[in-house]
Amino acid sequence: MAAERTLSIIKPDATRRNLTGAINQRFEEAGLRIVAQKRLQLTRAQAEAFYAVHRERPFFQDLVGFMISGPVVAQVLEGEGAVARNREVMGATDPAKADAGTIRKDFAENIEANSVHGSDSPENAATEIAFFFSQIEITG
Ligand code: ATP
Ligand code: MG
Repeated sequence: MAAERTLSIIKPDATRRNLTGAINQRFEEAGLRIVAQKRLQLTRAQAEAFYAVHRERPFFQDLVGFMISGPVVAQVLEGEGAVARNREVMGATDPAKADAGTIRKDFAENIEANSVHGSDSPENAATEIAFFFSQIEITG
């Protein structure tokens, strides 16, 4: 499989608890390379735009409020099958259902404050990477 890129976000529950390094160690140990990275405070409008696919879900406003409750780290991970590999390392959305050894099992607080985001398809990865990064900000 060719090297692929995916968008990863370390969410506010994790930055608040100073877990950025511990989480990124999991990605690097899994063979994913951080090829772009920035720490930022999302505005409400930016968080709503990023999660627009979920705007009809009952938890949408809560989710947006959570995502702007502190800084996030947006990053591009690169590696073989990066989209699927990232989601394996992340674990299930609900930490109570996540496999042992996954980031969400070990670090997430609950189904909403679940420490990390990962793109769910190569197509969405391309859109989500372009949301945060320009071509010149991504290295090898
Ligand atoms: P992400 O897109 O953040 O990587 P995911 O793909 O595992 O997570 P989605 O179904 O896309 O899960 O939901 C997006 C985010 O919305 C979840 O990561 C979580 O923060 C929040 N969320 C999902 N389901 C619920 C729920 N039932 N109650 C509260 N928040 C939820
Ligand atoms: Mg998702």
